[in-house]
Amino acid sequence: MIGEHARRGDAMSTECYFCKGRVVQEKVKVDFRWGRKLKVIEDVPAGVCQQCGEKYFHSSVYKSMEKLAASRAKPAARLTVDVVRFRMAV
Ligand SMILES: [Zn+2]
Repeated sequence: MIGEHARRGDAMSTECYFCKGRVVQEKVKVDFRWGRKLKVIEDVPAGVCQQCGEKYFHSSVYKSMEKLAASRAKPAARLTVDVVRFRMAV
């Protein structure tokens, strides 16, 4: 993937773009949202800042997530998600 850059920073970077913390390669769970749909994608390879938790995805990984999100393939599991409107606690 020469000449291709990740959407949010360079995934190979070992320093966080935001806080200069250390970025370590991990497998993460991503709440992937597009439109009104939400899919949870597990075991996604990402660089994770050990300080602020910012995640960095390689552009090819991001593209795969978009494909998975749009896919109608049978999911591995299904979660029920509650949507609530914010209101101040009294
Ligand atoms: Zn950071």
